[in-house]
Amino acid sequence: MNLRTKVLLPFVLIALVLLLFLYGYWTPRHIVDLKHEYQQATERHLVSVVEGLIPLLLAHQLDAVYENLDTLKQRNVNWLSIRLLNGDGTKIYPLVPQPPVANDREIHAMEQPVRYQDTDLGKLIVDVDFDEPLKDLHIRHHQLLGITSLVILLSIGIIWLVIERMVSRPVADLAQASKRLAEGDFAAQLPPVQHDEVGELVKNFDQMRLSIRGYQAELITRNESLNKLFHAVEQSPVSIVITDRNGIVEYVNPKFNDVMGYGPGEMLGKDILILKAGTEAAPDFEAIWQEILSGKTWRGEFQSVRKNGKLFWQFASLSPIQNDKGGITHAVALLEDISERRALEDQLRQAQKMEAVGLLTGGIAHDFNNILSAIIGYGSILRMKMAAGDPLRNNVDEILHASERAAALIRSLMAFSRKQVANPTNVNVNECINRMEKLLLRTLREDIEFRTMLHRASLTIFIDPVQMEQVLINLATNARDAMPQGGSLIIETARVRLDERFRIRHGEAAIGTYVMISVSDTGIGMDKKTQEHIFEPFFTTKEPGRGTGLGLSMVYGIVKQNNGYINCYSTPGKGTTFKIYLPMVAAPRETLPTEPVFEIQRGTERILLAEDDEPLRKYTKTILEEAGYTVVEASNGIEAVERFKERPDAVDLLLLDVIMPKKNGKEAYEEIRRTRPGIKVLFTSGYTAELIGQQGMLNNHVNFLSKPCTPNELLGKVRAVLESSVQAFFQ
Ligand code: ADP
Ligand code: MG
Repeated sequence: MNLRTKVLLPFVLIALVLLLFLYGYWTPRHIVDLKHEYQQATERHLVSVVEGLIPLLLAHQLDAVYENLDTLKQRNVNWLSIRLLNGDGTKIYPLVPQPPVANDREIHAMEQPVRYQDTDLGKLIVDVDFDEPLKDLHIRHHQLLGITSLVILLSIGIIWLVIERMVSRPVADLAQASKRLAEGDFAAQLPPVQHDEVGELVKNFDQMRLSIRGYQAELITRNESLNKLFHAVEQSPVSIVITDRNGIVEYVNPKFNDVMGYGPGEMLGKDILILKAGTEAAPDFEAIWQEILSGKTWRGEFQSVRKNGKLFWQFASLSPIQNDKGGITHAVALLEDISERRALEDQLRQAQKMEAVGLLTGGIAHDFNNILSAIIGYGSILRMKMAAGDPLRNNVDEILHASERAAALIRSLMAFSRKQVANPTNVNVNECINRMEKLLLRTLREDIEFRTMLHRASLTIFIDPVQMEQVLINLATNARDAMPQGGSLIIETARVRLDERFRIRHGEAAIGTYVMISVSDTGIGMDKKTQEHIFEPFFTTKEPGRGTGLGLSMVYGIVKQNNGYINCYSTPGKGTTFKIYLPMVAAPRETLPTEPVFEIQRGTERILLAEDDEPLRKYTKTILEEAGYTVVEASNGIEAVERFKERPDAVDLLLLDVIMPKKNGKEAYEEIRRTRPGIKVLFTSGYTAELIGQQGMLNNHVNFLSKPCTPNELLGKVRAVLESSVQAFFQ
């Protein structure tokens, strides 16, 4: 039942009661009273009339009697008949006979004793018609009743209306508004404010609405920022863990589960310390935790363990979480998997080490080369000049022999430091391996099985075939040494594409298509520590006399020189795999002519020799002069040009060191060629890989002689150039 009905109901009840009272009680009573009053009034009139009537009757003045009776009518006594009865009740005198009247009329016979001078004469009976006057009364009464009821209903209606306007309607509107408010509509229209309690209610309600709206807006913004924070944490690329003060995990983000291998919710309630691996120099987490609880933060790297037991490195930032009052209630840990970074750092360190060692080795090898050239040269001259039966000839042979060994060593070092002079050409890797099979089998023993798994399509790389062979022989030799009890050696080739992933994993590599050559053995393998050093020159684990420690450093240098990459995968006791990646040549380039065979010949031509290293120049000059040539000397490029200009037509061959002060060999040659375009030239260098090999200055090694060289090599090359129709030219 709503308020309006509730308010209306008492009013309806009051109206009903009032009307019931009016019609049911008051009206009948009132009518009885009126009747009674009329009766009494009639009686009083009768008395007064009767008193005056007696003497008149006795005097028989009937006219006067009737006149008196008429006064009754004037007094609203509607008599019908009047009789005079004597004492015994008999009729004495019908003054006015009774006219016939309808039965249903209310006729009252009113008696009045008639006395005269203390004598009872009888009684006067007047039949009075009550109907007529009462009817009048009734009408008036009903009029009054109607007006009263109307007034009652009207006032109740007005009171109700006032209450409706002042109370019910505002309250109902307020109720409606509160309902909409409850449904979340804060713009609900409120009833107009009045200056009473309802108005107060409306005002307070509106105040409440505004504050709730404010709170709601604040809540929404708070919620939004909380949501933002939550999503940031949930989608963070860093693992995030929140623990209580005791290190019991209360929250981990999905990244954490991803990295650690836990399922959702699995870590909750566990101790955060289960993440640490109890290995190598782990930080003191007990102490760290105390620091955190005292409000400090900790950052550091530690070895962590995944659910599957695998170890890896993580970088952690641990910090306390304080509540509003400054108390530490929780701790948060940000964890980042840094295995890749650490691996890259290791690789970088390794590369830098190799670079430094390479520079040092290259420098030494270069200088040593020149010295060695002189030793071999003069030794050779000495030997040439000795008589066949000279007792000292043996000693000279020993010197030359030792020098050759030293030269071989230097060549290995040059290979490592990428200073080896290379004559790259297109090499079909599969063909090369097949061709080498015999040679490799000779390197291996019988208890070693040799297998190849070659890519079905042909794979071409641009490399000096000699270098390719050096690489394979060295790897095979190492494999053999690693399998003293026998085993198998497998050489595999494939075409691979090195992508961003390879670069990330190995810290280097230009993206592109490569030929992969893998050499695997089932030998003793190596531990991590050994693997860190294998490419260093002179690193060997073999007993003295068995290993030089130069094999892998040569392989490394050659691979690097050819813009390739080499990786080693090894497990102690299981075996080792070396994987070499060399850039693949898409369409085989035109191959260069094969190396001509030189024969040692003498000559009488005039040679302009430019060489900055004096002993070496002297040595070369001696050999050439011994062989019958005329030699013009120059100690640098500028001098060479000057010497040439002294007698331009007399010079048959330029023998130029590539690297010289003031003007290098190439520049000197360019200048001379302007005067004599067709002039023949032979370049020499012990340090030419960078200038000639890498920059591609020379395209035909007929015109190039690498130092150190034997006199035979020198003379052979000089002869070949002099007799060839091939002209030296730069690309
Ligand atoms: P050397 O063979 O003269 O020792 P290398 O440079 O060829 O020098 O090799 C260096 C070291 O690398 C070897 O002494 C050996 O310890 C290790 N090594 C190389 N290849 C293998 C292999 N296939 N298996 C196990 N160890 C190897
Ligand atoms: Mg070796």
